[in-house]
Amino acid sequence: MQVLEGVYLIRGEVSNVYLVRTSGGYVLIDAGTPGDPPRILSYISQLGLEPSAIRLVLLTHSHWDHAGGLKEVVLRTGARVAAHRDEVNYVRSGRGRYEGVEVDVVLEDGDDVLGLKAIHTPGHTPGSTCYLDTSRGALFVGDLVYEEGGALREMLHKYSVDPEMNRRSIARLLKYDFIHVLPSHGNPILNSGREAITNLLKELGVQLEL
Ligand SMILES: [Zn+2]
Repeated sequence: MQVLEGVYLIRGEVSNVYLVRTSGGYVLIDAGTPGDPPRILSYISQLGLEPSAIRLVLLTHSHWDHAGGLKEVVLRTGARVAAHRDEVNYVRSGRGRYEGVEVDVVLEDGDDVLGLKAIHTPGHTPGSTCYLDTSRGALFVGDLVYEEGGALREMLHKYSVDPEMNRRSIARLLKYDFIHVLPSHGNPILNSGREAITNLLKELGVQLEL
């Protein structure tokens, strides 16, 4: 489903995968579970694209439902893999739950890859990273927050290695210019993404620094 011009949502069995058109080719945000590659590849083919149109997979983090399908996606597309420095070892090992993959592009906070800016937002995992599509004002947030009933919610604490740090990472997003928030679980919040983040922070009682 196209959610913004050149941005497509592919529903995986557990998590969302996004396909983004950039000036340097197509980018996938995450690769879903080990069972998701067939639906990702069939979606790409429905758009009339060859698998080789996918140049890069940007990982938000290394959990099974985001990186489990990575190996097969890479084999079928030849895409390179990018992840934050603090997530690389988990991606290589597959966390003992999926086939690990080598990371080709090791990211640091602030790096720009094909027009997508990496924003390191640790807490859910050490190297959790959001990607800001600066031309569209679209922020891909991984598991930093999820959508439910039209609102954004903090990831359940039991799923995060450091929930307090995750909360500080959410607050830090307000330094950036974005209008859409595209989470890995639930629906994208279009146009009012910034308000949704602000509302969540107020609900959590986080002091806003603006
Ligand atoms: Zn996760």
